[in-house]
Amino acid sequence: MNIHEYQAKELLAKFGVPVPAGHAAMSVDEAVEAAKKLPGPLWVVKAQIHAGGRGKGRFKELSESAKGGVRLAHSIDEVHEHAAEMLGKTLVTVQTGPQGKQVQRLYITDGVDIAKEFYLALLVDRETGRIAVVASTEGGMNIEDVAHETPEKIRTITIDPATGLMPHHGRAVAAALGLSGDLAKQASKVLAKLYDAFLGTDASQIEINPLAITDRGELLVLDAKVGFDSNAEFRHPDLGELRDLTEEDPMEIEASKYDLSYVKLDGNIGCMVNGAGLAMATMDIIKLNGAEPANFLDVGGGASKEKVTAAFKIILSDPAVQGILVNIFGGIMRCDIIAEGIVAAAREVDLNDPLVVRLEGTNVQQGKDILAQSGLQIIPADDLGDAAKKIVAAVKQAVPA
Ligand code: ADP
Ligand code: MG
Repeated sequence: MNIHEYQAKELLAKFGVPVPAGHAAMSVDEAVEAAKKLPGPLWVVKAQIHAGGRGKGRFKELSESAKGGVRLAHSIDEVHEHAAEMLGKTLVTVQTGPQGKQVQRLYITDGVDIAKEFYLALLVDRETGRIAVVASTEGGMNIEDVAHETPEKIRTITIDPATGLMPHHGRAVAAALGLSGDLAKQASKVLAKLYDAFLGTDASQIEINPLAITDRGELLVLDAKVGFDSNAEFRHPDLGELRDLTEEDPMEIEASKYDLSYVKLDGNIGCMVNGAGLAMATMDIIKLNGAEPANFLDVGGGASKEKVTAAFKIILSDPAVQGILVNIFGGIMRCDIIAEGIVAAAREVDLNDPLVVRLEGTNVQQGKDILAQSGLQIIPADDLGDAAKKIVAAVKQAVPA
């Protein structure tokens, strides 16, 4: 789960991480009220969307020359102008994709004079099984570009969970940022607080870009992106309130209600599969046969009939879907349960698209019988290769290119 910048900063501030003051706003009036609570003389009006690159982003509805999603304001009137121009508009950044994201919230924050910008992130490094600290002197810009063009400017330090964060980690980060004296001490402190926040919230990533040195010689977090490990959600019911459903794909939200792993993709063949590995293989074989999957969907091991029905409806609610491939290996989940779910869902929704079903495993014959006796137009398949060929052919026939 990801959260907005203002939520991330409020959370980090609770752990003692230094951030500028600021307030969220859902309307122009709220933006003006927020600005009045801050001292000035410089404010920053920041679009709150779950994507980075806002500063260099462009609004679809505004001209190319209009400013991006992070704007300086030198007066309350200017805050008003920016807020009115940004709210409700669609911001396109390198991270949103061409469709962009609608700006429904703003963050009004203290503007600071920046002497230098750094990059500092904490994330889970799966290779070492540790929390990794990534630090770079090249802050403020797209870190992917830095990694590509000047990889030597990015330092990675991993933290042994047995010892936890040690003073030498702080010194290493300060050195990586080229800091000494008081600023090096500040860097160690910021790192320690970020590390506390990371562990304390079961974060999966905390990315600070930029971490700035102000003209007063203070280190300050000017942008923060925080994501949490969804497997630890149950330990943090309070963090659940930070979820902004308008930032998420509606079908992915629906899927999460039923504990289904669903990711929307760009193709036209909907997939319902049990097990992530099998789902990947199914997507691969669809591609191998010259078509594209419309989604990744793993119904899991012990799915109920209700779960399968929900999965089926989610696939069918995607207007891009022109055919469905169900590929189930009945190990834990019995094939007859899947078959019942498919029949129930197909009856509930108006199924006009071709449907290929490949069942294998426990109670496979009962499952096939249920499908055959349902009176529905279901194309049975014997194995994965056969199933993929059949669905690709059926979609091509139904929708000639
Ligand atoms: P994004 O990464 O989405 O573009 P940032 O919050 O990093 O958004 O803002 C982009 C740039 O705007 C920063 O690199 C920084 O130079 C400037 N900026 C952001 N917040 C402030 C602030 N409070 N005061 C002054 N400048 C800021
Ligand atoms: Mg940034």
